[in-house]
Amino acid sequence: MTQTASADLITETGVMKRSHYSMIINGKRVDSRSGEVFDTYNPAKGEVLATVAKASEEDAEKAVQAAREAFDHGKWRKYPVGKRSRVLNEIAAIMRKRFKELVEVEVLNSGKSVGAAQVQINQSIEDFEFYAGAIVGHRGHVNNMPNGFFNYTHKEPVGVCAQIIPWNYPLMMAAWKIAPAIAAGCSVVVKPASLTPITALILNEICHEAGVPEGVVNTIPGSGSVIGDYLVTHKDVNKVAFTGSTPTGKDIMAKASSTLKRTTLELGGKSPNIVFADADMEAAVAGSLFGIYFNTGQSCEARSRMFVHEDIYDEFMEQFIEKTEKLQLGDPFDKGTHLGSIISRDQLEVIDGYVQSAKKEGATIATGGKEKKIEGFENGHWYEPTVITNVTPDMKAVREEIFGPVVVVEKFSDEKDAIKRANDTEYGLGSAIWTTNQARATRVAHQIEAGIVMVNCPFSAFPGTPFGGYKESGYGRELCVETLDLYMEDKSVLSYYGAKPLNPFGV
Ligand code: NAP
Ligand code: MG
Repeated sequence: MTQTASADLITETGVMKRSHYSMIINGKRVDSRSGEVFDTYNPAKGEVLATVAKASEEDAEKAVQAAREAFDHGKWRKYPVGKRSRVLNEIAAIMRKRFKELVEVEVLNSGKSVGAAQVQINQSIEDFEFYAGAIVGHRGHVNNMPNGFFNYTHKEPVGVCAQIIPWNYPLMMAAWKIAPAIAAGCSVVVKPASLTPITALILNEICHEAGVPEGVVNTIPGSGSVIGDYLVTHKDVNKVAFTGSTPTGKDIMAKASSTLKRTTLELGGKSPNIVFADADMEAAVAGSLFGIYFNTGQSCEARSRMFVHEDIYDEFMEQFIEKTEKLQLGDPFDKGTHLGSIISRDQLEVIDGYVQSAKKEGATIATGGKEKKIEGFENGHWYEPTVITNVTPDMKAVREEIFGPVVVVEKFSDEKDAIKRANDTEYGLGSAIWTTNQARATRVAHQIEAGIVMVNCPFSAFPGTPFGGYKESGYGRELCVETLDLYMEDKSVLSYYGAKPLNPFGV
């Protein structure tokens, strides 16, 4: 950092003493030209945490030009790949050193439980390590050619990337975006969610501390509909990588088409969780609980539609509901807390709206179904883990993404029917199958229309595993080696070195 925009910024003990966060453009902390700021909150308490510089279109322009300059004339993309790799490893090393601080800020800004934040920040670190390794082995091909010809593909970074991220995994989504992009040699402008801008800003600072040259990573908090839109239509932006809701994704895809930008879209989900009669009951109950309630259900790959075989339905549901009721909500910093708060009052109202609509349409609220008051956190946004049974496939709560700790449950009797119902959704991100029959697991896995199938497994993503959707859950895969190709162009270099000069026109 070469400039600080306000007096109370970095301290020896870390960021917690900051009351204001600036944007980061061209390696500097800067405030918006207009001086405009917005408040960012601790949703567990409903309290203001800090003020944040609010980027306008003018600031976004500065960030794009910084990224453009770094890409067109800077040294990052020209570094030997081993040097870029070392810097990525250094980012990971600094994040590891500042692990506690990152966890703390993430919990404060998102309301998530400390356990969830630790897992996500750990994974964010591993993402940088993963791409530090992956980029070294990433290369083009030499292709078979007629005698005298030689052709190879040269992988080149795609250019300036706008990376627009959501609030549910503030740092992890920033890591999923920044790590492969800069590994590939791109420059980025990150637009964090307005609700959770802090850890992305800290990550940007860490990138500089690790040796990423100025202008390569820029972070501009501000309104999605204003600066997000500006980035998506900007002629100097080559690619947009977006994670968020399906409607915004569609809007971005349409707007990005005017300049034919490359896009990767990681959107919503309504993922099925199918429990067969031969499932290991203990594993299926535990994994299904985690599948819906992790991160307080605010996950795009949350397994929010459960299909349970009729032969085990009563036994499974009894255990599932009993364990749902045992889940602890409370101080996010308490190690025993399973579910943190909801991100905002608006989101809580959205969630409750779905629960009320299901009730009205005749479903049964088997447990939960209302806001929860937590002692010491009375002004926060808390919602009971909720199980809805007796649903029909046409109900709003069954069809639409709720993005909260709410699961809808259906009974099934036949494998084919379960697959058909599981696929009866416009989404196709995650899915889970619980069975001890390996043949069935494979058969079903191959028929599910989703980018991810978890077989007897509660986890959806590790660095190296492709993450992304089918259908209206978007396209493109993140977190894997293939992601690097989404930040690169394949240039075909075609040469002729035959002895005889070629004269195709024959003149
Ligand atoms: P969203 O509107 O899709 O926001 C995601 C990101 O896109 C944020 O950074 C947002 O900025 C930005 N954005 C908003 N409008 C934009 C536009 N027109 N052009 C470019 N960028 C834009 O999602 P949300 O409003 O936060 O949440 C709504 C619903 O989306 C949730 O209830 C949930 O169903 C779903 N969701 C899905 C995921 C996922 O991982 N797939 C994550 C979060 C939310 P601002 O923050 O400034 O608006
Ligand atoms: Mg929105």
